[in-house]
Amino acid sequence: MALFARLRSRPHPALAAAALLLVTISSNLLLFRGQALATSFLIESPADGAVLGDGNLVLVDVVARESQPGAVNRVEIAVDDGLWEAATHSTADPTRWRYFWSDPSPGRHQIQARALGADGNAGLTHSISVDVQDRWTSSFIVDNPYAVHGRFRKGELHTHSTFSFDGWSSMHPGDLAQTYKRYGYSFVAITDHDVVSYPRELISDDFLVVPAYESTSESGHITAIFSTRVVPPDQPAQARLDFIRDSGGMAILNHPTWQVGWSGTDLGTLQGCFAIEIFNGMTSTDHRAARAVRMWHDLLNARGHARRLWAVATDDAHDPQAMNRGWVMVKSPALTEDAIRGALQRGAFYASNGPSFAALGVLDGSITASSPDAATIRFIDQDLNVVHEGPPGWSGYYPQGTERWIRVEAVTADGKTAWSQPFWLLPNAPDAGILRPLH
Ligand SMILES: [Zn+2]
Ligand SMILES: [Zn+2]
Repeated sequence: MALFARLRSRPHPALAAAALLLVTISSNLLLFRGQALATSFLIESPADGAVLGDGNLVLVDVVARESQPGAVNRVEIAVDDGLWEAATHSTADPTRWRYFWSDPSPGRHQIQARALGADGNAGLTHSISVDVQDRWTSSFIVDNPYAVHGRFRKGELHTHSTFSFDGWSSMHPGDLAQTYKRYGYSFVAITDHDVVSYPRELISDDFLVVPAYESTSESGHITAIFSTRVVPPDQPAQARLDFIRDSGGMAILNHPTWQVGWSGTDLGTLQGCFAIEIFNGMTSTDHRAARAVRMWHDLLNARGHARRLWAVATDDAHDPQAMNRGWVMVKSPALTEDAIRGALQRGAFYASNGPSFAALGVLDGSITASSPDAATIRFIDQDLNVVHEGPPGWSGYYPQGTERWIRVEAVTADGKTAWSQPFWLLPNAPDAGILRPLH
């Protein structure tokens, strides 16, 4: 015992030399394996010790100079002690790998990067720490509806079952909801004409059905979601909107440019609706929603930030062949009625009839989007001007400060589109004078 204690406190010189040799050999092996992948490997951006703000996205930019082409098979990023996630290899510059870190919470964080070879073994690693602050440094704030924790889930907000008078070739509500689930939807609102179809027995951990109906009248077709009380359809549109709100529901103005409905109703005067259909799978032709999008712009510009109106895309399916044409992707922390309702209210969703956004938000003051399944990304101002167009991998636009709002479209080669909600520009006192009045 005494001998052992002495050895531990003062190792034999020969033992110490052997240990040193072992350490040297193993670090050489590690170095050799790392050098086999890349001659240099580092997180270039953000800088170590950087203070981050001005948005809900952080772009982690990694440079891996390979020892030979193809040596680095994969680059992965982990934040704090989270899971390793794959970075995207730049097609323009093979030394670069990028990763969007979404919705960091304020405080100090560690970002780690590692390079992996074809054998799956990790080679070189690099680690930095950053300080995330809830701050905005420019003279205007970009009001970002996607600055919430959660992930995007697919939902349908307008579809008809056999319980609709014109849904004779459709499906029973339960079958209809289950078919949406098979298409990869997380939630569905079945909107029969003035009837609530609500197959609540299908609600599970990974699927949600919400009560809904379509209030159907010549003075306008209005979807009521989260509502089990049906308003008499013979009332004017505003009276029906009031009823839906007072009974705890949320209202969407349906197919505003279709010849059926909305006769004699001025949409510009309506209050108490949270969204308008800009794409309807039954009435919008050839994937296009141009007229409804123009109407949405007019309404947004007339209503202003305080009464902003979100856009939805829907199926309005009356038969099984017309399903999965238009949908919303809702960013919510959970799949519950409360979580989906909150996300819809604050605009944390986008509309689509094809492509998806892999990232959508604000990065260092720049409105930023990524949509790998699109051909191009467009940034559009309140007057329908395309203020910037960029590649689908990721594109960003720094607002000038003179725009009222900017929205993003990801468009495929055949014209299918994902439409973001507007990012409003709000004054960040004291330099608020550069903005035009909001109302
Ligand atoms: Zn309708
Ligand atoms: Zn309908």
